[in-house]
Amino acid sequence: MASEDLGLSLLSKLLSDFYRKSAAYFPERIDEREFGMGDLERKIAFRHLQFKSNEEFRKYMIVNAPPYVSCSSAYYHFPAGRPMSAKGWIGSELIFDLDANDMHLDCQKAHGGSWVCDNCLENVKAETLKLIEDFLIPDFGFSDNEIRVNFSGNRGYHVHVNNEAVMKLDTDSRKEVSDYISGHGINFDSIFKEEMVRGSKIRKLVGPKPDEKGWSGKVARKFISMINNGKESLEQIGIDKSIAKRLYEKRALVEMGIRNGNWDMVYIKNKSDFWKSVIEKQAVAQSDRIDKNVTNDTGHMIRLAGSIHGGSGLVARKMAAYRNMDRFDPMKDAVAFREGNLKIIADTKNVLSMNGKEYGPYNKEEVTIETAPAMYLYLKGLAKVISAE
Ligand SMILES: [Zn+2]
Repeated sequence: MASEDLGLSLLSKLLSDFYRKSAAYFPERIDEREFGMGDLERKIAFRHLQFKSNEEFRKYMIVNAPPYVSCSSAYYHFPAGRPMSAKGWIGSELIFDLDANDMHLDCQKAHGGSWVCDNCLENVKAETLKLIEDFLIPDFGFSDNEIRVNFSGNRGYHVHVNNEAVMKLDTDSRKEVSDYISGHGINFDSIFKEEMVRGSKIRKLVGPKPDEKGWSGKVARKFISMINNGKESLEQIGIDKSIAKRLYEKRALVEMGIRNGNWDMVYIKNKSDFWKSVIEKQAVAQSDRIDKNVTNDTGHMIRLAGSIHGGSGLVARKMAAYRNMDRFDPMKDAVAFREGNLKIIADTKNVLSMNGKEYGPYNKEEVTIETAPAMYLYLKGLAKVISAE
């Protein structure tokens, strides 16, 4: 006789305990935020909720223990008002949602899009740091303490910018920001020019220098790092084998030229495709379909930092400072359910690494493992929970 799956009832109990003990999930200005709650089927099953105080919110979370909690990036006079226009919008943080699935990694072809491996997590962390250190700080001038980062709870990071100047930005201005960081609409004719060498009929290609601001400097710096990385990295972006070889051999000379704005050494046949791939390598991977909307939509709801993600059981852990990301290991530092063991029937070809231990692969077998990895497999749909041990 097949035994009943205890996963859902155990999850409710674990969530309720978590929200009773944790104090790290109260957003700033809680009474001006809209909240949405989700079940295992829909991440936002209902919304337009308002809580007047941390204590009221805490009580709700202990009693209802929802698997997903979202919170508006906006502040409102009347967060519970409906329709949206009745909420009295005050302003919205600028937010970015970076997800390993938007990065088209080779590992994902092997393990599928719903699984997350160490390589996924490392890549999306590097992408998040790129967004902050190559764009938000140098190009937009935000300071460290205006940028808050939290793990998404599954396979990415959320970046919130809370700055007086961004609060009132409308949708169009937010779209300009997301276009800029994804490298859309850059005009190459404005950064590269052909000039005649004085007193001759020779043309020379004048381009950006690495110390220039904005995209011009990024393109120059990226290209210099690519020629120094070897000829394979040049071939990958569509440079002919023979030209790649020559560029690599003469890299010191090419680099010196570019540092002075002289790109003449870089002869490339199909310039537009070539630059497109240089830009793609340097732009921040955001999904056109979903995540740019996250940044553009001033009424967007995003996972509450400090809450639990119902698809993994991990905490959407807040970083005290974005630089702490360097040492942050989600599969250790975001683990929530740290007590007891569960007996499960697990079925997965993948190996789960958590808290320095490995679990699986499992071939429909009954195993007793710690609560956190067991719940992770249950929430990924790869295990059935038999009993709490
Ligand atoms: Zn992966």
